[in-house]
Amino acid sequence: MSLFDYYIPEPALRCPACTAPLADWQGTGGPKALLVWKQGVRSPVDQLAEGDGRLEAEALAAVHLPNVFRIYTACCSKRFFVEAIGRAPNGTWSSTELITVNNAQRDKDERMEDFKARLRWLQGGHH
Ligand SMILES: [Zn+2]
Repeated sequence: MSLFDYYIPEPALRCPACTAPLADWQGTGGPKALLVWKQGVRSPVDQLAEGDGRLEAEALAAVHLPNVFRIYTACCSKRFFVEAIGRAPNGTWSSTELITVNNAQRDKDERMEDFKARLRWLQGGHH
């Protein structure tokens, strides 16, 4: 079963394209157990899994995030997600780098025309 976790950047981030406040971040770089991670807090602050999917307190205290992980959320584009890179150098999520027109890189399986369209969207200012 392939799940994901929820992420709460602190402070909250704004969309690079339209500047709207962003929420409902998800990512598959962590334990993928419907946990809720909050920046600055080492252990999950909540878990939204039900029944067998829930972790006991002991297991919950043992999980942590990888050093670097990618998170994403939907905003003003139907085609592209807003993305960010979270970093947890000591096991605690300490920083979040929003992917903008300035630091976006073409994914290895992303077509050039798609990458260019993504950059135009990230640039913002036109809807
Ligand atoms: Zn937006």
